Amino acid sequence: MASTAIAPDHTAASTRLREITHWIGGAERAGTSGRFGDVYNPATGHVQAKVPLANRQELEAAVAAAREAFPGWSAQPPLRRARVLFRFRELFEKNMDRFAEIITSEHGKVLSDAKGEATRGMEVIEFATGIPHLIKGEFSEMVGSDVDSWSMRQPLGVVAGITPFNFPAMVPMWMFPIALACGNTFVLKPSERDPSASILIAQLLKEAGLPDGVFNVLHGDKESVDGLLEHPDVKAISFVGSTPIAQYVYTKGTSHGKRVQALGGAKNHMIVMPDADMDQAADALVGAAYGSAGERCMAISIAVTVGHETADILRDKVIERIEKLKVLPGTDRDADMGPLVTKTHLERVSGYLDTGTQEGAELVVDGRKSALPKGEGFFMGATIFDHVKPEMNIYKDEIFGPVLGLVRASNFKTALELINEHEFGNGASIFTRDGDTAREFARSVQAGMVGINIPIPVPMAFHSFGGWKRSLFGDHAIYGMEGVRFYTRLKTITARWPTGIREGVDTKMPTLG
Ligand code: NAD
Repeated sequence: MASTAIAPDHTAASTRLREITHWIGGAERAGTSGRFGDVYNPATGHVQAKVPLANRQELEAAVAAAREAFPGWSAQPPLRRARVLFRFRELFEKNMDRFAEIITSEHGKVLSDAKGEATRGMEVIEFATGIPHLIKGEFSEMVGSDVDSWSMRQPLGVVAGITPFNFPAMVPMWMFPIALACGNTFVLKPSERDPSASILIAQLLKEAGLPDGVFNVLHGDKESVDGLLEHPDVKAISFVGSTPIAQYVYTKGTSHGKRVQALGGAKNHMIVMPDADMDQAADALVGAAYGSAGERCMAISIAVTVGHETADILRDKVIERIEKLKVLPGTDRDADMGPLVTKTHLERVSGYLDTGTQEGAELVVDGRKSALPKGEGFFMGATIFDHVKPEMNIYKDEIFGPVLGLVRASNFKTALELINEHEFGNGASIFTRDGDTAREFARSVQAGMVGINIPIPVPMAFHSFGGWKRSLFGDHAIYGMEGVRFYTRLKTITARWPTGIREGVDTKMPTLG
């Protein structure tokens, strides 16, 4: 095995496999556990690198580095911490193309989408640079006679982030910029399927002047996740991934006394009303269903049409657009969709095409039969099912691939009930020209992020991201002010100067008097 440099493989299997490293205490650390995961190039189907899977000693080293760095980092004035983030933001932007190449090489998404992901992540850095203002407390003068009271928010200590494969740069950046800005130190456990972006982040943070040990990357699988969940020095866990693991992380982490926010899976619906602009709705739907090959937690996977005519019009327009989508390696400038992340995932997603057919849905376009690149890449084309019913598994499950289901509802109320009865509640959107319907939808829908004529309503960095129901476990959404609250503890001080106590002991309950 060879060097640790980050060098995406666009072509074929390398004979000498790159070995990815951990990042602990401000330096690369080769894995010592002897256990490795394969990192594929999904466009070629070949393994391009090995990622070490951490053992207990490596976990201890990462947490110890973060613990030791905490007193110094947390004692820095917030403005100084912000200045490191300002420099990091500049370096991040300069390296945007490198990030995009790495993401495309390991995840498979098209380059423009990878750049879009990096840009959305950068917006959280920009938000976090405002930390001197964001972390300000509240002050009340004269809460009693000559008594003042104020609040402050203080960092928690060592916090950890556990992230999914589908946004290898953006999702870590939902977490660490705010955690660090608040004065915490961080251990990131990225997805073992596309781990390289996290190391470039670590290198750039160091170049930006972040002290060693403040940000650490520990690669691994369940063993390292369990280690972080159990470790007494880890005070909080931010998790993003599938619902079963999110629930597990939440339950185990909280039982070990940690603060946990665990964001899970989704089945995002888009209602299309008869009065919607059908071309606009079809364009939005195709982008939201098939962008990133459907591997987005905010992808639209169910379109609910209101009225049969709406269904027929929309179906024809979506098919027209699907036929023009080009499925190619993500590095190809003409690509609309790249491959899925792994062969196992491709097989799981294509299995749902058989499931849906057996369940009685109409397989209108079968992505397995699309024009796909030759070779061993994990490609599948855009797929659409019509006449999907709520009792079908293709309706209930998160498929997480380029598979869109059409559900036909007779009126708005039924369409809304479908969303509200689904176990997930991440995003939901409506396409209509009617303000009253849109307003009622926004008010009544049981989902955390709502779009009105917007298919993927991902909140900007200065709002917060989070679903409802089984799409989020915990009390805090991620980033924005919710992030500042999650990564800090509230302390409220009440003070009187200088004479009150001198007047003698008073044992009765203090009141305003
Ligand atoms: P995943 O749940 O398989 O993995 C997420 C993380 O958990 C990874 O770091 C992985 O190493 C770890 N992990 C996996 N199995 C584990 C186990 N048994 N015990 C402990 N840790 C384990 O998710 P994924 O396949 O990487 O990502 C896709 C999923 O993430 C989808 O369900 C998607 O909806 C969800 N997601 C949600 C959001 C959101 O904001 N709600 C955002 C992005 C992705």
